[in-house]
This record gives sequence, C-alpha cells and structure tokens, in this order.
Amino acid sequence: MQKPILAFLIFLILGCQSKPSNHAADTTPAAVNAPQLAQKTPPQPSADSLPLDTPPETITNPTPKPIPSTPPKSTPAPSHKKTVSKRQNNYPKMTSKKYITGRFNQRKHPDFVRLDDRYCAYPDMYLRKEVYAAFLKMRNAAQKDHIRLTIRSATRNFFTQKRIWENKWTGKRNLAGGENLAKTTKSPLLRAKKILRYSSMPGSSRHHWGTDIDLNDLANSYFESGKGYKMYQWMLKNAHQYGFYQVYTAKGPKRPVGYNEERWHWTYLPTSKIILRQAKKILKDEDFTGFLGSQTAPQIHIVQNYVLGINPECL
Ligand SMILES: [Zn+2]
Repeated sequence: MQKPILAFLIFLILGCQSKPSNHAADTTPAAVNAPQLAQKTPPQPSADSLPLDTPPETITNPTPKPIPSTPPKSTPAPSHKKTVSKRQNNYPKMTSKKYITGRFNQRKHPDFVRLDDRYCAYPDMYLRKEVYAAFLKMRNAAQKDHIRLTIRSATRNFFTQKRIWENKWTGKRNLAGGENLAKTTKSPLLRAKKILRYSSMPGSSRHHWGTDIDLNDLANSYFESGKGYKMYQWMLKNAHQYGFYQVYTAKGPKRPVGYNEERWHWTYLPTSKIILRQAKKILKDEDFTGFLGSQTAPQIHIVQNYVLGINPECL
C-alpha cells in the first residue's frame, strides 16, 4: 500500500510544479483591459483647444479605435458637437456684420481671452485667443532683446467706441491738443473729420475685431528717441515674423487717406486680413448708425477712406 500512495504523492507534487505560474496570468486581464478602457474614453477636445476658424459642423468627437473582439459603437455620442454648435451660435462669427462692427461683448465671446494684467497698462483687456498667443511669442522674443512690450489698448467694442466718440462730439472730452468741439466746431461734417484724425467712428474700428493692439505709448514722438525708438525699430524689423504689422503708416503716395500715422497700432494680419476682406464685401457707409453724428458717415466715405485707408501691406 505504501508504494502506490508514495507514487500518488510524487505525481501530485510533479503535477503542481509543471503548471505554468499564475502570477503573470493575474496581470493579463488587467493589461488587456487597460487599453480597452483607454480607448473607450478617448480624450475629448475642448472647444477652446480647437482651431478658432473651425466651423462648428466640423467639430466632432474623435472616432475610437476598434477594439478587438468588441464591435465598434454604432452611435457615437453627439453631445459635444451639439454643445459647441449651440454655444458658438450665441456669438457672432468673425465674418458677420455684427462682429465686424463690434456689436458683441468680448468678455463673453468664446473666441476671446482675458490678457494677463502684467502685460497691459490697464486691467481687464481682451484679444482673440490666437492673437494673444502670437503676441506672447513676440513679447518673449522682444524681452530677450531687452525690449518691453506693453499693451495700452486691445479690444474695444462698439459701445466703448460710442462713448469715446460721443464724449468728443459733445465736448465732454477735449481733443488731443485741448480743442473742445462743442465750442469750436458747429458743422457736423467738420466735427466728425476732426475726431477722425485719431479716433474711429463707432462700428468702424479695427479694435472691435480683437486683432489689433496699441503698444507702449500713444504719441508718435515717443518712438523717436530712447526706449521708444529702440522698441519701434525692433518692431519694424521683427514684428512681421509673429504676424504683426503697423496699420497706420505715414501718410503719403502709398497711403493718401485715412487716420494719421500711429506707430503704436499693430494688427495680427493672419486674422485681420480675413475680417477686412469680408468688411470690404459687406460693409456700407449706411451701416454706421446709433451714435451722434452717424449721419456724416456716407459723406466721409468711411469704408473707403478709413476702413480701407491703411498700410497697403495690410489690405
Ligand atoms: Zn489703436
């Protein structure tokens, strides 16, 4: 009886040792499940990370990779697509007349971002997201050359521009140089033309678009010596590498009409060119309404002489 029992025990022992170890097997299901789980929940693009020009209808969830032994989902969840479309439809697209004439709140528009107050002369400034990203690159490059770029003005919507315009129109605020238009100028046409030397008519300002900034100082003379001279020369040499161009260059044969020279006003051309092309197509002088003196817009030919009276490189 001992021999069969011994043989049986030996058989049991050998049998157990010859089995493959279960240790690795314990991890196998998890290793298989991990990629499946990862694939089942692909990272969702946020609306903010999408290219800004992407029309809502092209914004979709990424298609999950097919998982072996699991049939692909036949109905991908469309919730994100719907959310983005609905959200963006509440705000004017940058090619609409409403957007071009600045009739929206940049603080709430999904294409805009609030700027870091450290880079601005005043708090609570906004730009289009891609414009701000380009500005930051330019600012960093300038800083390496010991040039400091400070934004003095960014997006101003129609309602802000109306306040600026009407304050000058009514004499509540003097023009640069101290002239009070309420006292000196009765003719509406002349009054408008005097304001237009430096200020835009509400609805016609490039500052509505979120593409244009005023940098460092609002007097041309500042850029003729010292820090201002260095900064301006740096901008002339380098700004275009980051997409920025001076809009209101010196008046002359190349730019016979429009605002006076502004060495501080720069535009992010990749976006503003698209908006300007659309403005040229759809804006009419009669569109400028809703503020004191708006009746003068057709006489002044505001679109031809001011919206389009810019540095030819920016057209
Ligand atoms: Zn400006």
